[in-house]
Amino acid sequence: MQTSSPCKGCSADVHATREQIEKMVRQISRFPEACVPDEVYESRLAACSSCPSLQYGSTCSHCGCFVEVRAKFPDKTCPAPGGSRWAG
Ligand code: SF4
Repeated sequence: MQTSSPCKGCSADVHATREQIEKMVRQISRFPEACVPDEVYESRLAACSSCPSLQYGSTCSHCGCFVEVRAKFPDKTCPAPGGSRWAG
């Protein structure tokens, strides 16, 4: 049985160490065809870094996701109630 998930929404804890988050991002990045292009990823993270909804420096307060993980996926969007803060 899998004991960890790349998505915070499937775990019990909103906190993770920098090392744990980086490990999740590395795992996802092994499948570049399943990830947004780097420039889109960086743009998304730039929006998150200046967003008041970013908690603990890692977690979106609207969806509970680690933004460095969520931003990797093409099918994920920014869940800001007033409209997406992501350009792509
Ligand atoms: S609301 Fe959007 S921009 Fe803000 S932290 Fe969440 S995903 Fe990032």
